Amino acid sequence: MIITRENLIKKPMKLKPHTVILGAGASKQAFLNGDEKGSEVPLMPDLIRVLELEDLFSKHNIKYKDKDFEKIYSLISKSNPQSEILHEIDTKVHTYFSKLKLPSKPTLYDHLLLSLRGKDFVATFNWDPFLYDSYVRNLNKYPLPRIIHLHGNVRLGYCLKHSIMGDYGTFCPDCDELLTPSKLIYPTQKNYDEDEFISLEWNLLEYALNHSFTITIFGFNASDTDREAYNRLLYYWKKSNLDSREFESIEIIDKKDELDIYEQWKDFLPTGHLLYKKDFYDTIIPNHPRRSCEALYHPKIYGRIVEKNPIPKECSFESLYKWLRPLYASELKLYQKK
Ligand SMILES: [Zn+2]
Repeated sequence: MIITRENLIKKPMKLKPHTVILGAGASKQAFLNGDEKGSEVPLMPDLIRVLELEDLFSKHNIKYKDKDFEKIYSLISKSNPQSEILHEIDTKVHTYFSKLKLPSKPTLYDHLLLSLRGKDFVATFNWDPFLYDSYVRNLNKYPLPRIIHLHGNVRLGYCLKHSIMGDYGTFCPDCDELLTPSKLIYPTQKNYDEDEFISLEWNLLEYALNHSFTITIFGFNASDTDREAYNRLLYYWKKSNLDSREFESIEIIDKKDELDIYEQWKDFLPTGHLLYKKDFYDTIIPNHPRRSCEALYHPKIYGRIVEKNPIPKECSFESLYKWLRPLYASELKLYQKK
C-alpha cells in the first residue's frame, strides 16, 4: 500500500527529532552563486585568496603558498597566541563573513528550515550568517528547528563575565557592554570544552543525537582539522541507546564519490545502511517537508512506499508559506490531541 501525499500531509506522527549537521559544503551548495551581491562564500582552501591575506602574510614573512590556512593559523597561534597577525586575520574574516547577505528569494537554507519542525535540530559548523539570517526571516511564520552553533558565528556575541550569549551588535543586559564577537577560527587542535559557549552548544548536540530518529549530514568534510569534531559526533551517536532506536538511518549529502563517503562514515552505521545523495533537493527533507521522519518510518516499519511531496523550489516566500499551511494545520491538530 502506498502512503499518499495527502495522507502524509494530514497524518503527521509524534516521532523523535530529525537532526541535521551542516558543514562548509552546505553553505557552498546553498550559495553557489555567492550572496545577494554575488560575493563568494569561501571554503577553507579559498580563504587566503578571497580575503586577500597574501599581503598580510608577506609583510610578516609567513610562507603561505600551497599551505593550508588552518595550519598556518595554528602555527602562528602556537608561537604567540596574542599575536597581532592573528588579531588582524580574525578581524578580516569577521568583517568579510558578517557582510554576506541572503538573497531576497527563498534559498536552500529557507527550504531546509521550513521543511523541518519545532522538534528538530540543525547543528552548524559554519561561520557565515546565512542560516541565522534565514532563521530570523522565517521565525514568525512556522515553528522552526532549534539551531545549534558548533563553531562560532558572525551573528553571535557573548559576555564572558555574565555568561550571556546573544546577537552580535547588542549589549549585555547585566553590564551594558557590547557583546564580544564569537571566536571564529580555532587552531587545529580544537578544544571545544575550553570555550564556555561552544561547549554548551555541544552539550545540546549530544542531547539531540541521543534522541534523534535520524540524522542528515550535509557538506561536512571530516578532514584532519575536523577530526575532533568527527570523533565527537561518532561518540555521541554511538553512545545513544541503540536498543531504543527503531532503526538506524543516516543520510549523507556530499559531492564526493560514494566509496569515499562510505569510507568516511561507515563507523556511524555498523548495521544499518547509508543513504547518499550529492544534491540536497534529492534528499528526504525537501521531498517530504515537515514529514521527513514519517517518510522514513512508513517504509522501514511497514514496508510501505511513500509518495513524494517536494517543496516548491522556485517560488516566492508568500507562495511558499501558503503551500506549507496544510502541513502545519495538521501538526497543530496532532499536538492539540491528548
Ligand atoms: Zn556582561
